[in-house]
Amino acid sequence: MILNYEQFIKTIPTKKTFVLFGNKLTHSISSNIHGKIHKEYDLDADYFHVEVEKHQLESAISHLKNHFHGANVTIPYKTDVMEFLDECDPVSTRLSSVNTIVVKNGKTSGFNTDIIGIYESLKKDNISLKNKKVALLGYGGTANVVADILAQNQSEITILGRSLDKAQELLDDVLKNHPNACIKTKLLSDFCDEYQIIFNTTPIGMNELENQSPVDNFKSAEYVFDCIYNPQITKIVDIANNFGVKARSGLNMLYTQALFAQNIWNDIDVTRPNDIYQKLSSELFKKRLKDRNIVLFGFMGCGKTTISEILAKETGLSLIDTDKYIENEQKTTISEIFDTKGEEYFRQLETDCAKKLSTMQNTIISVGGGFVINSQNVEILAKNSVFVFLDTSFNEVLKRIEGDTSRPLAKTDTLKELFDKRYPIYSKIDALSIKSDATVDSILKEIIGKV
Ligand code: NAP
Repeated sequence: MILNYEQFIKTIPTKKTFVLFGNKLTHSISSNIHGKIHKEYDLDADYFHVEVEKHQLESAISHLKNHFHGANVTIPYKTDVMEFLDECDPVSTRLSSVNTIVVKNGKTSGFNTDIIGIYESLKKDNISLKNKKVALLGYGGTANVVADILAQNQSEITILGRSLDKAQELLDDVLKNHPNACIKTKLLSDFCDEYQIIFNTTPIGMNELENQSPVDNFKSAEYVFDCIYNPQITKIVDIANNFGVKARSGLNMLYTQALFAQNIWNDIDVTRPNDIYQKLSSELFKKRLKDRNIVLFGFMGCGKTTISEILAKETGLSLIDTDKYIENEQKTTISEIFDTKGEEYFRQLETDCAKKLSTMQNTIISVGGGFVINSQNVEILAKNSVFVFLDTSFNEVLKRIEGDTSRPLAKTDTLKELFDKRYPIYSKIDALSIKSDATVDSILKEIIGKV
């Protein structure tokens, strides 16, 4: 729920209620995260979004103080809000940035949990910043928090952006709190391959810039952190991974700052295991899918069955295996159909099946190895599906299907011939291609993060 200022000041909650103040909140997932935390920790509380203009902020905070229990604050008000609070803790004061307000004993107190979100993510990845050459891309609100962490950890910081003057402003702010910080500025266009750690705090990689990366050379890099959380695998993270560099995007940061805000408001135990992150990740994935299906394909033995079953379980999407679908419809096995009616007959059944499945939504469709060889089947499903190619080497295929007698075409001596015939066709299909010799976990992460 999003309220405007007028609606907000007329609202007197009857139970513990928290809000998010910001300017444009249509895309925010904060109420979703906090709703999940309330449920998980059995808190009888509400959380909703409030869009305010800058001149309304003071009176909105006053209304908050009188009737609510706390708030989050997002761009562009993290600094502006501070003058209307009764007190701010030392960290938010140092950062000049409050993202969490608690109302207690008639007083409003400001905190910053964004910094914890970043610290906890780095801790998860076991990243040490000490004496590391770090590129900080951007110089806005989030860069300010990252710069503080870097200065605290004696990193060699370079702030990069498209305006050297604005980069200099952040540099000056950092030096006020950390006079000995090793810090300089550079134009983003002059980025070169000399940094061990790279933080992206620009929006390059999201919304209309989704297919872009602010930088693309990571030969010297050990770690890349992108604050963007949607998509879950941003372009910069993807390129870094292709360089063999560990990389993380911002969903864990977002989740963690919310969890620690709840710790301030409701004293929740942040160490208690829960599956909220997992649920958020799945929901973001489903939202990006926009009611389309996922068609998983690849050569026999590529892992379609395992991957599709786990993906369905993790995301709550329905699952259809075309081979099983046909077997159910025909009330016999694929081997039997091949033996009694021949391959051509079976291929026609696949096309009939494609037509029927083309009306489905939010379904994982795991297709047999020959299904996509018929371009008509691909065309039929492509209208409403994202294709994922589980790309397997022939040697891996051999290892995986050894001794499996249920696959009619695997029995032939010409398996390699079949592989060589099909592989170029698979490769030409417009699909997300994933090397299927990776672990199941990383294949799932890649599908969920990139679709
Ligand atoms: P911000 O204060 O508006 O700063 C944005 C920065 O990006 C500025 O330095 C801006 O520089 C730069 N920038 C914008 N467009 C650019 C472009 N096309 N090319 C190069 N630089 C560009 O925003 P913020 O609050 O720091 O947020 C930054 C990012 O972090 C956003 O993507 C946001 O979604 C993400 N974020 C994530 C979390 C989380 O929990 N995961 C929390 C907060 C923010 P100019 O002034 O030159 O435009």
